[in-house]
Amino acid sequence: EPAQPSHRRPGPRSAEWFARAAKTIPGGVNSPVRAFNGVGGTPAFIDHARGAYIYDVDGNEYVDYVGSFGPMILGHADPAVVEAVQKQAAKGLSFGAPTGLETELAELVCSMVDSIESVRMVNSGTEAAMTALRLARGHTGRNKVIKFAGNYHGHVDALLVNAGSGALTLGIPGSPGVPEAVVADTLVATYNDLDSVAEAFKAHGDDIACIMVEPVAGNMNCVPPVPGFLEGLRDLCDQYGALLVFDEVMTGFRVHPGCAQAHFGVRPDVTALGKIVGGGMPVGAVGGPRDVMETLAPTGPVYQAGTLSGHPLGMAAGIATLSQLRDGSVHKAIAPQLDKLLAGLNERAQKHGIGFLTQRVGAMFGMFFTDAEQVSRFDDVAACDTEAFGRFFHTMLDNGVYLAPSAFEAAFISHAHDDTAIERTLDAADIAFATLAH
Ligand code: PLP
Repeated sequence: EPAQPSHRRPGPRSAEWFARAAKTIPGGVNSPVRAFNGVGGTPAFIDHARGAYIYDVDGNEYVDYVGSFGPMILGHADPAVVEAVQKQAAKGLSFGAPTGLETELAELVCSMVDSIESVRMVNSGTEAAMTALRLARGHTGRNKVIKFAGNYHGHVDALLVNAGSGALTLGIPGSPGVPEAVVADTLVATYNDLDSVAEAFKAHGDDIACIMVEPVAGNMNCVPPVPGFLEGLRDLCDQYGALLVFDEVMTGFRVHPGCAQAHFGVRPDVTALGKIVGGGMPVGAVGGPRDVMETLAPTGPVYQAGTLSGHPLGMAAGIATLSQLRDGSVHKAIAPQLDKLLAGLNERAQKHGIGFLTQRVGAMFGMFFTDAEQVSRFDDVAACDTEAFGRFFHTMLDNGVYLAPSAFEAAFISHAHDDTAIERTLDAADIAFATLAH
C-alpha cells in the first residue's frame, strides 16, 4: 500500500529503516556516499522510481539528478529496458555458459565506440578499471601507472591513491588495508596539468604501462579536460610506448553516444566502461583493439574471469539501453533541457547574489559554490564552499529535488527530465539560493 506523502523529506519511515540498517550493514549503506556523511542528516530510503522521479518509503517524490550515479540516462524504469529484463528473467537468470546476448551487447559497444574492436564484460566499473590496469601491465610488460589526484577508478587497491593536490608524488595509500607495496607503482599527477605527467614520464618512462584517466573528471564534481590535455596525454603515451586508458565508466555513452573519446576526438588504447553499459544492472566492460584485448585469457596470458560476467539480465538491460542511444537522438533531446536547467540555476543564483558556477559535458554537469569563472584543477574544487553546498543540498531535498549527497559528485540528467521536472527544480533552487543568501 503506497505511503501517504510525509511532507518531511526524508521522513520517519526512512529514519526507521536507516536505524534498522545500521544494525546489520556497516553504516547502514552498501556504498559510503549514500550515508549522507558529506552533507549531514539521514538518507532517504527509496521505494521505487520512474522517469525523472524517485519515491522514498515515506511517499515523498523527488526530481532525481543522481540517476543511480550515472546509469539511468533514459530515466528510471524505462519500459523497453524493464521489459527486456523481465523477458530474460523468465528464461533463467544465469548459466555460466555463453549466450548470444553477450555478443549482441559486444557488437553494440564495438559499433558505437570507435576505439573498441573487442570487449570483455565484467560486473562493475571497479572490475573494469582493475582489468584495464592488469591488461595494460600484461600487454606492455611494465609496472607503473599514472593516475590523477581526484580521479576515481573504483576501489581497486592500486588505484585507491590520491596524493592530494599539487605536485606529482609517489603513491601513498588512500585507505588502511592497502599495503604500500601495492601502490608503489602508482604515480599521481595533477589533472589538467600536462607538465606533471611529462615529469612522471621523464623520471619513469621506461616502466610506465599506462595512464589511467577520467576523460571528464566526474568524481571531483564535474571538471572537463582543458583544451590540449587529453591530446597531450595521447602524445606522451605514444612517445614513451605506454597505453592510454580512458576510464569511461561515468562518461561512457553519457557525454556522447560514442563516449568522451568521440566528443573530444582523442583515441585511447583501452577503455573501461560501466554504469550506462549495463542500463542499471551490475555490468562493466573493458574494450580496445583486438590485439590488445587478446592479451586476456583464454587467447592470451593475462588472467581475468567471472562467474556472473556477461550476466543475461545485465546484457538484456545494456542492449535495450544502448540501442536507444545509438542514433544520438536521446543526447540531442537532453541537451536543450540541460541548457534550460543550467541557465535557470545560474539566473536564480545571481538573483540572490550567490557565487555559483556550473560546468557540463553532454548529459553530465557540476554545480560549484565559488566566485571562480572556471574550475579545472583539483585544488580549485577543494577551494569551493562545501558548507554552502550542504545547505543547498538540504533545502533542495526538502523541496523535492534529489542531488548527490556530496559536493564532489557530478550530477546526471536523463531523457525523462521534461519541462515540468526542470521547472520544479528551478522553483526549489530559488528557495535554496534565497536560504543561502540569509
Ligand atoms: N570509474 C569511474 C570513473 C567511476 O565514476 C566509478 C564509480 O563511480 C568507478 C570507476 C567504479 O565503478 P563501480 O562503482 O561500478 O565499481
